[in-house]
Amino acid sequence: MSDENKKSGYKDNGQTGSLLDGVDTANKNLQNIGVELLTVHTEGTVHAKRMPGAFRTAKWVIASFWISLFVFPYLQWNGQQALLFDLAERQFHIFGLTILPQDIWVLAIGLLFGGLLLAASTAVAGRVWCGYFCFQTVWTDVFTWIEEKIEGQPNKRVKLDKEPISFAKLKLKIPKWIAWSAIGFLTAFSFVAYFDPAIDLWVRLFSLEWTSTETTAILSLTVATTFFAGFLREQTCIGFCPYARIQGAMIDSETIVPTYDQDRGEPRGRIKRVKPGEEAPVLGDCIDCNLCVAVCPTGVDIRKGQQFGCITCGLCIDACDSVMEKIDKPKGLIRYASLAEFMGKPTVPFLKRPRVLVYTGIMTVAAAVLVWGLATMSPIDVKVLHERAPLFVQMSTGEIQNKYVVKIVNKSAVPMTVNIVVDGVDNLVYIADQNISVPPGDVASSVLLVRLQKKELTDANTPINIHIQDSENPAIKSTYTSMFIAPKPR
Ligand code: SF4
Ligand code: SF4
Repeated sequence: MSDENKKSGYKDNGQTGSLLDGVDTANKNLQNIGVELLTVHTEGTVHAKRMPGAFRTAKWVIASFWISLFVFPYLQWNGQQALLFDLAERQFHIFGLTILPQDIWVLAIGLLFGGLLLAASTAVAGRVWCGYFCFQTVWTDVFTWIEEKIEGQPNKRVKLDKEPISFAKLKLKIPKWIAWSAIGFLTAFSFVAYFDPAIDLWVRLFSLEWTSTETTAILSLTVATTFFAGFLREQTCIGFCPYARIQGAMIDSETIVPTYDQDRGEPRGRIKRVKPGEEAPVLGDCIDCNLCVAVCPTGVDIRKGQQFGCITCGLCIDACDSVMEKIDKPKGLIRYASLAEFMGKPTVPFLKRPRVLVYTGIMTVAAAVLVWGLATMSPIDVKVLHERAPLFVQMSTGEIQNKYVVKIVNKSAVPMTVNIVVDGVDNLVYIADQNISVPPGDVASSVLLVRLQKKELTDANTPINIHIQDSENPAIKSTYTSMFIAPKPR
């Protein structure tokens, strides 16, 4: 128990009820009733120092994935935008594949796979998603890099923030905000360009023809990006991110996270020359240089233990390793390690951990369903509407006739010519258009008449199969089962 706690009146009274039994909690905060709180940086903006190192390089390499966000809207596939989520037409175009509302399960399975991948990576290495991949972290990293180029090293930036508004201060702050807003705008524009064709969006920008929805979406996303990555930064990860709240449920004692080796580092202290006759203090390997705190983008002192604000980026490891190298001590005073390792327990290989096995098992099933679904997805889709008034017509020849409207969707990126074939009942006669042209990603309608002799029918409702076949490759087809309706046989 700390001295502060003793002073506050907290004592272990041996009671079995609440821990706070017997504690005077009136007008006390959590700390002075004995609850140990690890600090979260709340003292203004964190201006972290940048240092080279293996994890710093890994961060940039992994972050470079996000360049694809800006590039993909301009990729073309068979003459149209390769990735286009056309909400107005309710069609998602993904590299020549058109996903319609009825195929939305593909996106649902894709999201399930992504969610489980996140859970599995958290079980293995904590908030590794946050540290390396999350757009909030990556954009903040880029924004602070720009800030450093314009305003200078962290000490200068801290000083500048404290200065009153002046021409010299604005000369640095204004260009920074302009650069940030430009990135915010490009981010917002690129995002919207997945829903509206990118080239057309640029053309309509210069002729001032954006719709109010486009203008509102792009402006609000520009402001949000600039605000979250430039102004709010690490406070988003600490205070707003829902994933930060639930990740504690996904980790266990085998999860590897950046950890300070307290046994090796303590007691910490600065290296001092020992005067002749003086006894050298017994110190651990931590020289209390504070570099691990100075480089932390969320302002965490990892020497106080694993904390809520830590995004598992490993930058403190880079910093401490560089110090260890200088003072000729082994690297790894701060390292990726599990609680089990520090407790001297044997480490379980991550593929043998139940939690990881369950996540990986579900992910494998989801991936298999996704691959199977995509591989077997027909490029043609068909819907058939039965004429309701009248439901059937009795012909003078004794035949019963039903009328249908066949809607054919070409989900591919190339024009298609299709035929209608109907079967399911013997001696069935049908009249349908043939060689129907359907443009890529478009819908064509055709009227279908089906006739059956009354004596062939044993029921008022008889199922029939309506097949739509590619005229060049009949193996490409889609089938719709509809009903042939007739008067009740007597
Ligand atoms: S960087 Fe290493 S040596 Fe320096 S304070 Fe942090 S843990 Fe101690
Ligand atoms: S404590 Fe280390 S790993 Fe955690 S956020 Fe700070 S620098 Fe990154």
